[in-house]
Amino acid sequence: MTALFIACADGRAAAALAVLQETEGETDADWLLVPGGPLVLTRPGMERRVALDWIRTQMDLHGIRTIYLVSHQDCSAYERSLGGLGFDQQELLARDLRRVKALLENSFADAEVRCFIIPWRENGEAPSFGEAEPVE
Ligand SMILES: [Zn+2]
Repeated sequence: MTALFIACADGRAAAALAVLQETEGETDADWLLVPGGPLVLTRPGMERRVALDWIRTQMDLHGIRTIYLVSHQDCSAYERSLGGLGFDQQELLARDLRRVKALLENSFADAEVRCFIIPWRENGEAPSFGEAEPVE
């Protein structure tokens, strides 16, 4: 059973993504890395249609049944797209993830969609990304 991870292209999040992939045991998963990750699917219109077509292609080619939507805090693509990220970015990311999950479940009836957020930790000497946390 193969999986598809949809996540942000930001290389700083790569290590946390690798840990999530390992933890979930999805060693042969496909990846769709674009700025903002699931952000591309929040936009009605052409961008979303193209992204849905990419997903459909990967699902058909590799029999994908599980889609992981992974957003991360401190996302420059999100910041640019929204003109800033407030203190409620966790809430904003979670809301978008739930919306995109519903969209994908409607578009691909037999897919299981799971949502995660990679947190940014300011505490400690070297701020960094923490481990991905599930979003219900
Ligand atoms: Zn990002």
